[in-house]
Parts: sequence; structure tokens; C-alpha cells
Amino acid sequence: MSYSEDDFVPISALQHLLFCPRQCALIHNEQSWLENQLTAEGRVLHRNAEKGKSTTRDGIRITRDLPLHSFEWGLIGKADIVEFHPPAGLTKTAARRTLKQRIDQHRETSLADWTIIPIEYKRGQPKKDDSDRVQLCAQALCLEEMLHLTIVQGYLFYGQKQHRHEVAFDPELRAITADTISRMHQLMESGETPRAEYQPKCNNCSLYDLCLPKTFQMNSARAWLDRQL
Ligand code: SF4
Repeated sequence: MSYSEDDFVPISALQHLLFCPRQCALIHNEQSWLENQLTAEGRVLHRNAEKGKSTTRDGIRITRDLPLHSFEWGLIGKADIVEFHPPAGLTKTAARRTLKQRIDQHRETSLADWTIIPIEYKRGQPKKDDSDRVQLCAQALCLEEMLHLTIVQGYLFYGQKQHRHEVAFDPELRAITADTISRMHQLMESGETPRAEYQPKCNNCSLYDLCLPKTFQMNSARAWLDRQL
């Protein structure tokens, strides 16, 4: 299946869906957004990761804020950092020249003999759920389509621990990611907002004051706003 650009969904929406389908619909179907401390800190961390231009270190090209897309998966977004590691034996100068040529001509050729590693910056520490890993895997799916290669691993960098965790793009994670992408498209196509259901994690939700899950068990934040007005 191939999606048109009009049907692309943001990669960042996948973690909203895994956190709470209602939050995802409020943000991406109803365009509601409230900021809390957690989202503000995450935004600052991302901004810092996106600072600066691409660099080359020891022959490894490090790109920042790289635009991503996939027609196969219907995704669009950005990667905080993508590292391009040249094949062993390639000199630094040759590596720089070869990478530029191959990216310029990426529709005709491939970087299959290079090692490509996406890195995503996150606030806090590793989560118990799959949301960060799924977001990173979705970035890898886009890079695989764009660069015609297979990506086997990436890293999640957590600001609180100042440490990066390896993420293997194994069949299990790819299956979870594919399922999440499919559910995301279904939610966007439906245009519906799931009913509020209070859970402990609601206390950390940036949309709590809009959703009011303990008070208003109704489908649409917009309906609640209309009623208030
Ligand atoms: S407050 Fe709870 S139910 Fe409402 S959007 Fe957030 S996580 Fe979902």
C-alpha cells in the first residue's frame, strides 16, 4: 500500500496514541494542545538536540533535524540525529565524498554498505511502555525507504540519565510499530475522539485540564468547549 502525502501522519503522534488514544485524537484530530512542565522540558531538550549544523567526526557524518517521510507507511517527521558510519576501510575524505554523492543520487543507488543509526532525544528516563522505541523504529522505517537499506539499531538518549540506550529494530518491535501505525491511520480517518477514561497516568497528561477525565466523560473536548461558551 502507498499513501498520498495528504494522508501522512506525524511520527510523533505514534507515542501520543500509545500513551492514550483520546489524547492522540484531541491533539491530532481536534488540534487541541496544552503545555505542562513535561512537554515544555521535552521541547527544550529537542531544541538543544536540533541546534547546530551537521558535522563529521572520525569519518562519521552526524546530521541533525533530518526531515523524514514514508509513502509505504504514510509517515512524516524529523529525526533528532542520524549518524552515517562509512564502510570499514574508506578514508574520511572518500567517505564524505561518497556519502554526498549517494545521498544526491539516492533514488538510483543505495547506502547499503553504510551503517545508519537514528538517535532520538527524550526527557526523563526510559519508559515502561513501547512508545519511545516505536517512535524510533518508525524513523528507521522512513530512513529505510528513503535510503534503500536496512537499519538494524538506533539509540534513545535520555536527558535525565545523560545516557543512550540501544534499540534493536527486531521483528517484534517492527510488528508493534506496524500495528501502531495502522491504528494511527484508522484513528485519523475516523475523525473520532475516544471517550475519556480516568487512569493514574492522566495526572501526567498535558491535556488533563482540557480532557477533565474525572468530570467529563464525553467524547469531544470541542463539545465541552461549545457547552461552556
Ligand atoms: S487526561 Fe487521561 S484520558 Fe484524558 S487525554 Fe490525558 S491520558 Fe487520556
